[in-house]
Amino acid sequence: MRTLRLVTTLAVAGLLAGGVALVAATPASAATAVFSVTNNWGNGYQGQVTVTNNTSAQITSWRVEFDLPSPSSVSQSWNAQQAASGSHYTFTNVSWNGTLAAGASTSFGFLVNGTGTPLNCTVNGAACAGGPPPTTPPPTTPPPTTPPPTTGTPVERYGQLRVCGTTMCDKNGARVQLRGISSMWLNWETAPYAENLSALRWMRDNWNLQVIRAAMGVEPAGAYLSDPNKARTQVETIINNAVTAGVYVIVDWHAHEAQNNQSQAVAFFGDLARRYGHLPNVIWEPYNEPLQVSWTNVIKPYHQAVVSAIRAADPDNIVVLGTPTWSQDVDVAAASPVSGTNLMYTLHFYSCTHGSSLRAKGDAAIRAGLALFVTEWGASNADGGLDGRACLPEAQSWIDWMKANGISWTAWKLDVGTDTTNLLSPGAPVTGGWNNYLHGHAPFVVSNMR
Ligand code: MG
Repeated sequence: MRTLRLVTTLAVAGLLAGGVALVAATPASAATAVFSVTNNWGNGYQGQVTVTNNTSAQITSWRVEFDLPSPSSVSQSWNAQQAASGSHYTFTNVSWNGTLAAGASTSFGFLVNGTGTPLNCTVNGAACAGGPPPTTPPPTTPPPTTPPPTTGTPVERYGQLRVCGTTMCDKNGARVQLRGISSMWLNWETAPYAENLSALRWMRDNWNLQVIRAAMGVEPAGAYLSDPNKARTQVETIINNAVTAGVYVIVDWHAHEAQNNQSQAVAFFGDLARRYGHLPNVIWEPYNEPLQVSWTNVIKPYHQAVVSAIRAADPDNIVVLGTPTWSQDVDVAAASPVSGTNLMYTLHFYSCTHGSSLRAKGDAAIRAGLALFVTEWGASNADGGLDGRACLPEAQSWIDWMKANGISWTAWKLDVGTDTTNLLSPGAPVTGGWNNYLHGHAPFVVSNMR
């Protein structure tokens, strides 16, 4: 007879920063309930359930059910198919995690609005057991953790990425914070730095770069709309180089009024998703920086159209969605998120212009359940640093905030010029070897990638 052992893992309170605490209730049956602390924000929390096949034979499906005391409710979940009837929730396996070998485990996660914890838990109709949630804080002894792998390319280490709650996880379900750089507008590069494989390898090996962003200009003369073959070729070169170098690559539709060219964006991303969506390297970014236009009436419908085109060919790679006001109003997006899976939202900052009030918007979005990705930032004014000034103390506050929240980032921008955010100084070869060519905020960026 097949029996299942269910391990219920709940984020209850912020008792351990970045750690997990366990307490096992004495089981009345073969099941055990284990509660852990991962993330909590007072009026809600992130929960996780681990299903373990405790039999000697393979199983091919599982179903977990529980009640949440009103008014608590599940706002979103991942790695399981969720259904609800009133306060009763049912989670069934998705296609890739239903089959469990003897002794194997899999997990799904969910966000709860409210502080109520699951009651009357069953797995495949039998009691999960393990008893109710503990009423005393768990002990602070963390479980043994597997140290992250330190060899191989970034993609070899992390593999297929996915959104897990409000952050990004690697193929093993561990939180990952990618760090890297953005190209210049590809139509305005002074030299083809972003398209050079040797340079990419050099940044990977010397800067610890894990991700490069291909900022494909759309609207200016010479960019995608007027020379699509050139722009697409540049992007495909960067994708292919990223695959060779084993780093991640963001395909960025670098536009400010993309809703005016939605059909072109749908065609572009649909085409690339068909040809590159099977690769773990690729991250899609359909709209760099919308202007001050309506999220619900303009930007969100655009995203829904492009995400649909991507998902028709690529069911799983992460899509990072631009937000109003040059990708600052993530709190507005959080009030009406785009439906779908593995979606993140773009936050951009420039530290001479943006400080704690913009981080507060980010905090609000995270509390509402959004996963953020900073696909551009600079230790400069919002114009990229035309005056050459750098604001490093505020940039450090941002670096600390992104690290604390597991927010991945790519810094603006890989080119030669006088702006603070130009990473390279004149004479920098296109093939890398830039130790004597760092410019502007580059030393700060590089030191925070390592
Ligand atoms: Mg894919």
